[in-house]
Amino acid sequence: MEKLETLCVHPLADEDKLRGSVTSVIFPSAAYNYLDNEELQYPGFYSTYNQQRLGKILARLERGKWGLMFSSGMAAITTAILSFVQNDDHIIFSRDLYGGTLTFAQNELPKRSISYSYADNSVESFKSLLRENTRLIYIETPANPLLNIVPLKEVADFAKKHGIVTIVDNTFASPINQQPINQGIDITVHSGTKYLGGHNDLPFGALVSRTTSHKDLIYQTAKIYGGSLSPYQCYLVERSLKTLALRVQRQNENALKIAHYLKSHPAVSNVYYPGLPDHPNHHIAAEQMSGFGGILSFELDVNNESLFIFLKTLSVIQPALSLGGVESLICAPAATSHKGLTASQRLSLGIKDNLLRLSVGIEDADDLITDLKLAILIVV
Ligand SMILES: *Cc1c(COP(=O)(O)O)cnc(C)c1O
Repeated sequence: MEKLETLCVHPLADEDKLRGSVTSVIFPSAAYNYLDNEELQYPGFYSTYNQQRLGKILARLERGKWGLMFSSGMAAITTAILSFVQNDDHIIFSRDLYGGTLTFAQNELPKRSISYSYADNSVESFKSLLRENTRLIYIETPANPLLNIVPLKEVADFAKKHGIVTIVDNTFASPINQQPINQGIDITVHSGTKYLGGHNDLPFGALVSRTTSHKDLIYQTAKIYGGSLSPYQCYLVERSLKTLALRVQRQNENALKIAHYLKSHPAVSNVYYPGLPDHPNHHIAAEQMSGFGGILSFELDVNNESLFIFLKTLSVIQPALSLGGVESLICAPAATSHKGLTASQRLSLGIKDNLLRLSVGIEDADDLITDLKLAILIVV
């Protein structure tokens, strides 16, 4: 099996190169001769050449059998979930979910009389929530914003025993740090907007499946809800993926250095990073991940006003909501991604007002540490 670093740069055999071109080509056509090409017989989802090519690339990177591209992470997530549940079914979600997924569960599932439960990070918790009508287990790991980890292999083994489909949102880890299909998971979904695109400028989603047996089902759902990705965007994704391994490895290294720095700082009360030995799920992360990722969270011992000044003072790290790109971004989840929850809901998830989530970019680690150090000095 080829190494991921090589696969990122040379994802497919050169079947698709034309006229000696080193890069792949863009086929803008939304219509294809159906007599000629069996693979293109999924009318309605604009299942273009570039879309299919990129699906194959993602599947190779994540060791699945096939993949599908979407216009956003949420399109991939909602398609994946709705492909496997019907009225009166039950879903078990891991507790810490991306805000959009949480809102989808709360607002959309009840309309279809689909019930759901939230498991904490232990396999025992998933087992205890099993019902006769449980059809789907949906996991996010590492999860936003405290980087909690769910043991993938144990949950996948349990699900398999009961004929339950498993989906993992692999956005935070990317295929470089975590390969859920290798752990026995059925489907992975991504907000490609984050690490896969990696430059904070390319919104898209992706789905990879371990088998081709779900292909028709997922295509049918994808088609109804739309959200396909254009050939031009697909090309940009393929271009971004060439540097994925390089970027993510640098982000892993930077994040670990910064986590250690913050850990030693007297004005920081907690650092949440799965690569730190005292993170509650460190040992599981070390088993199932090949890198600990580029995201960490920490609590700065200051009031809201000082927190605001701290964020204003940073000069390299920018206060912005997304993550996974080459630029380091920081945000306070209580004031942004989790603002819609009540204060007590936030506290039950462990999200304090002074919690900051840092998505570490590929800048020089010492420059990032200096930026943090100077901004902390202003407020403590
Ligand atoms: C951003 C994000 C999503 C949603 O993706 P979009 O591309 O913004 O639709 C889903 N899951 C996780 C973990 C995310 O960070």
